[in-house]
Amino acid sequence: MKIKITKTHHSRMNETDFEKLGFGEVFSDHMFSMEYRNGEWVSPEIIPFGKIEIYPSLCSLHYGQVVFEGLKAFRAGNRVNVFRPEKYHERLNKSCQRLCIPEVSYDVFITALKELTVLDKEWIPKKKGNSLYIRPFVFASDNFLGVKIADTYRFMIITSPVGSYYKEGINPVKLVTSGEYIRAAKGGLGAAKTPANYASSLLPAQEAKKKGFTQVLWLDGLERKYIEESGAMNVFFRIDNELITPALGGTILEGVTRNTVIHLAKKWDMDVVERRISIDEVLLASNEGRLKEAFGTGTAAVISPVGWIQHESEKITINGGKIGTLSQRLYDEITALQYGEKADTSGWCYSI
Ligand SMILES: *Cc1c(COP(=O)(O)O)cnc(C)c1O
Repeated sequence: MKIKITKTHHSRMNETDFEKLGFGEVFSDHMFSMEYRNGEWVSPEIIPFGKIEIYPSLCSLHYGQVVFEGLKAFRAGNRVNVFRPEKYHERLNKSCQRLCIPEVSYDVFITALKELTVLDKEWIPKKKGNSLYIRPFVFASDNFLGVKIADTYRFMIITSPVGSYYKEGINPVKLVTSGEYIRAAKGGLGAAKTPANYASSLLPAQEAKKKGFTQVLWLDGLERKYIEESGAMNVFFRIDNELITPALGGTILEGVTRNTVIHLAKKWDMDVVERRISIDEVLLASNEGRLKEAFGTGTAAVISPVGWIQHESEKITINGGKIGTLSQRLYDEITALQYGEKADTSGWCYSI
């Protein structure tokens, strides 16, 4: 693929304080854009980051035919490591299939990502813990208010230098189950990375925050019994010597970090089990002293220890509200691989 490149005349690098990076607040100088029309992806280009022109009748604003991804690039000495891009690409296309969006080839995905990252290399933060967050997304671009599968689309990639998720060390989160809301039901959009899932989670998350919790711990939509995931994180429980995570079944997002954790824990000879796990089982294990630790996994935070869970009138504290040994080991191992401090024997880093 040949990408047309138009460079900016006015870099915003100097206006950016790299000591005070939040998450997704500032954007690099350039962005990638490509269009889908007449049945094919055409006109790939890299242009200065900026406004895009749309009509108010843009169908994806009304009906949500949109998918996105979130991955990261890290400085590893003189090189740049993009962590597991083929996994994120695979999931992008799965999401595309569910939302009737034309798939994007790996060649297009990786070439666009590579050229954009090379062009904006200076935007990749130098400090350990910081990284360049990469946000590919596809949206339907027909101007039409009838409900139908669109004929035209736009695939874009924007990037944002981000700070470490943990400014003052890793802080365990407080989760609460919701008696009222669900995230996804079987047959719905739960396994796709699509804005609709986020839209539906805003109100429950706001209510949880008002009550002093960090996030909602989602239970299944049918029986309100089995644990699914939390916020934009998959969840793991270490009970006795088993590491248990909810099995994928169409309602849970298949996290890349989840997959990385499963691989590493198996490599470390742990018993890793993907199965249904009920909230009652977790509470019981906790009361019997068998729940050693719990944590969430996601690209943004990598590993997020769970210190407290509340379900109805029952509250549990996990590992004294502190990060567990496995959580810490996983965090250290994954970040060491990402920053090139450890040999990447699994071939997870795409090095530029
Ligand atoms: C993105 C996401 C995750 C985490 O996936 P990673 O690939 O590990 O970043 C988990 N749950 C939801 C709902 C998500 O959108």
